[in-house]
Amino acid sequence: MGGQLDAFTYNALPARVIMGAGKREEVAAEVGRLNCARPLIVTTRDQAALGEDIARRLDARQVSRFADATMHTPWPVTQRALEVVEGSRIDCVIAIGGGSSIGLSKAIALRTGLPQIVLPTTYAGSEVTPIIGETRDGQKSTQRTLDVLPEVVIYDVELTLSLPVTLSSASGLNAIAHAVEALYAADANPITSLMAEEGIAALAKSLPHIVQAPDSIEARRAAQYGAWLCGTCLGTVGMGLHHKICHVLGGAFDLAHAPTHAVMISHVAAYNAFSAPSSMARIARALKARDAWTGLYDLATNLDLPVSLEALGMPETGIDRAVELIMQNTYSNPRAPDVPALGNMLRRAWKGSPPQPME
Ligand code: NAD
Repeated sequence: MGGQLDAFTYNALPARVIMGAGKREEVAAEVGRLNCARPLIVTTRDQAALGEDIARRLDARQVSRFADATMHTPWPVTQRALEVVEGSRIDCVIAIGGGSSIGLSKAIALRTGLPQIVLPTTYAGSEVTPIIGETRDGQKSTQRTLDVLPEVVIYDVELTLSLPVTLSSASGLNAIAHAVEALYAADANPITSLMAEEGIAALAKSLPHIVQAPDSIEARRAAQYGAWLCGTCLGTVGMGLHHKICHVLGGAFDLAHAPTHAVMISHVAAYNAFSAPSSMARIARALKARDAWTGLYDLATNLDLPVSLEALGMPETGIDRAVELIMQNTYSNPRAPDVPALGNMLRRAWKGSPPQPME
């Protein structure tokens, strides 16, 4: 229990969550439930056809589309979407996709107060968080506000079948990283920790099956269930060193979001090993592994994911700069960050060496 029963604060997040194969059929009913009639369908360019598929289930005269959502929610894209919202008298947003489509939907909700219905197609978890990251003039800034939390989430497992295997694995590790950090968060609580352990276990079991059989509804269903739980952890408690590192590496070296999480999480678990032993025991139990860091590293390796920052395109000369950026701004973490230990960890991660617990 990690002492969490002594005293804790639990902030529950309001959301209507609908889960099941084929549940996208209910999107029109959900628009009606919100007393709305003029939705804007938001997707990336890659997923525009999926947006059309959803549009066919709605009144064609009332639906508008915006198929230009882009990773990291750049402000010029949001501005263009807001023009469509105003010009077409939109009264709700339907986002279909991963964190990029959902990020744009949240950016619209933040400025307009419009309700959101979200149909996730990755395991990133943004649909159940009150968090929005936006990029303006090359700077990404993140804020937490209930104004961006989607009102309705429809988890239709069939929408995840097309997610390529490598993206599925990386996105799954991204989700697991939310749960790992939730277990040792300063504001950890028993409910979030239950979700974290169950979420890690569901993903650790299902991801290797997805690699073998990407069309397996059973494996995809378990992975999506795990992603929901892990996303809820991200939405409910504060994240630590791992999320800070991924934010820095993504911003400074333009590394891909989910694969960076997949490389780093085992190393950060090792970094925190002796400062959060009871959390590590729960992670190991969920992974059915000897210890948390080896279990996380072995999972990434077994899923054939890149295990080095070098493979993601980070220059070795960037390590010192990364450490400098990580040391800026405070964030909560079981073990205080220190320059030599961070440098040591990043050098191992850069090479792809197995994680090493540090005293
Ligand atoms: P993404 O939404 O950028 O999707 C990656 C690519 O895969 C896109 O080209 C997309 O069109 C495609 N794709 C998505 N689902 C697919 C499917 N089922 N089949 C085929 N192609 C599919 O990736 P992501 O990892 O979900 O999101 C990353 C973004 O989300 C980042 O900007 C990140 O910062 C943000 N994020 C935010 C939060 C939050 O709580 N605010 C949480 C997690 C991630």
